Amino acid sequence: MATTQEPGPPTRSETPQSSPHPMITYIGCAQCGTEIAGLDGRYSCSGCGWVNEWSDGHRPLPEAPPHSG
Ligand SMILES: [Zn+2]
Repeated sequence: MATTQEPGPPTRSETPQSSPHPMITYIGCAQCGTEIAGLDGRYSCSGCGWVNEWSDGHRPLPEAPPHSG
């Protein structure tokens, strides 16, 4: 029985959805146009106070633990 082992290079997997580290991304503020940095697609402009929708983030917010009792 011949085993089919491919000695090729390891497949380059896509970025996992649940990255252990938040990704720093940049965007232009929708209000004043200043380039601001954000984490996981969430931004808050320090210049004018604009913040984007939380749902624009790259990952869902952690859910609150269920109430016990
Ligand atoms: Zn702004």
